[in-house]
Amino acid sequence: MGHISQTIKSLHSSLPQGVELVAVSKFHPAEAITEAYEASQRVFGESRATELVDKAKTLPTDIKWHFIGHLQTNKVRMIMPHVSLIQSVDSERLLRLINAEAARIDRVIDVLLQVHVAQEETKFGFTPQELIDLMSTCDVTAFDNVRIVGVMGMASNTDDDTRVESDFKAIAQTFNDIKALNLPGNEHFTVISMGMSDDHQLAIKHGSNMVRIGSTIFGNRQY
Ligand SMILES: *Cc1c(COP(=O)(O)O)cnc(C)c1O
Repeated sequence: MGHISQTIKSLHSSLPQGVELVAVSKFHPAEAITEAYEASQRVFGESRATELVDKAKTLPTDIKWHFIGHLQTNKVRMIMPHVSLIQSVDSERLLRLINAEAARIDRVIDVLLQVHVAQEETKFGFTPQELIDLMSTCDVTAFDNVRIVGVMGMASNTDDDTRVESDFKAIAQTFNDIKALNLPGNEHFTVISMGMSDDHQLAIKHGSNMVRIGSTIFGNRQY
């Protein structure tokens, strides 16, 4: 058994019940995805629109593709027929556009709102306060073609576990604050996507129910 299938199997047996594994396959070829697929992995994460579309067109149709990168507005239409969850909604404008493009092809698309808590300036997303303000003021019932099913976030890229844990706590708290608003569609608001190869255990400790793991499964990426 190869490294990929072995790692998938060990993650499937070690992740707690209720924690979904997203295998982050960005920059890795179709053969690597096929090996993971054969080990019964069905959810894959991609961060570039063209790459997601190319892979979705050639790989098995029961794969669920998650978009996890910064989504440029001119790429929304292209991924819309292929993507099952957009994890990285980082502006109200993008949310509106996703709704419009989903309506165009008559589908309802699940999305996560990206929360920015990490110390790096470059990461995309709403601050917790911006997100709570958005959810309190914008009329979510106006979005007939998007279903906001949770939040996604990343911890700071640091060896300081205290900082990483406080970032995860802040992401989970943002989820709880939005949940407490009890907005329409609230029953679908269930996902806390946080945790990657190096920090998923800490993320799960703080409430993650969706982890996005790339390099542990597929090895280092060749950019
Ligand atoms: C690349 C990426 C991951 C996976 O990171 P690894 O450290 O390789 O597990 C997870 N989430 C997002 C948003 C990413 O861009």
